[in-house]
Amino acid sequence: MSTVDSLRCHQPAMFRCDHDVVVNASNGVSLSPGSVRRTFGSVRALLSCLRRGRSLRYSGEPVTQWEHSLQTAALALQAGASVHLVTAALLHDIGHLVAADTAMGTPTLQGIDDRHEQRGAHLLGELFGEAVTAPIRLHVVAKRFLVTTAPGYGDRLSEDSRRSLALQGGPMNPTEVDAFRKQRHAEDALRLRCWDDIAKDGSAPPQRVERFLPALHAALRDPVMSCDDLMTVWRSIETTPT
Ligand code: FE
Repeated sequence: MSTVDSLRCHQPAMFRCDHDVVVNASNGVSLSPGSVRRTFGSVRALLSCLRRGRSLRYSGEPVTQWEHSLQTAALALQAGASVHLVTAALLHDIGHLVAADTAMGTPTLQGIDDRHEQRGAHLLGELFGEAVTAPIRLHVVAKRFLVTTAPGYGDRLSEDSRRSLALQGGPMNPTEVDAFRKQRHAEDALRLRCWDDIAKDGSAPPQRVERFLPALHAALRDPVMSCDDLMTVWRSIETTPT
């Protein structure tokens, strides 16, 4: 049995798939190559962006975006995932954070699909290869795949997840299902989706991002600093007032 099939058969009991941080009107606008370089041209810029999640509630969930990211990465680490997939888990919602306003709300209520998975994968391509960016790019379409192929999955989605699902294209047709299965990183995207769905535990002990930085460092396309230097960069970001 392939991982795709085993994931379909062993879904966690609870699934909620909201990605509902409000974002400003620029969310639907593609970023130019220049802005990509300015945004994530360095690990410092990336980690600074990730830290923004500390002050952003995950709307409708008892966690912040920061806690959600770290819980997703912790589940990946616990599952023995590769450094690339642990990094993808940590960064899978960075597309929300890069454009997130301080205001909160639910973009789906405004009929907006913020396409955070596309934006995040695009931005991260400056620093990481496909093993990191593809599962991120596919983690929304993985929800559509599971809704279509995993009995009961869609019934457990929250109201907002159903709304975002409709905006994201709804269930797949058979051609789309076949096309998804053939994607090179489909299985990793499904694993990421499963962790994403359950990484919303308001009572979970806090995670330290330092736990995941060695994986992030190992996954870098072109490490320009040692892992120790990366840790130093993080500590300097952490102590900088927002
Ligand atoms: Fe997520």
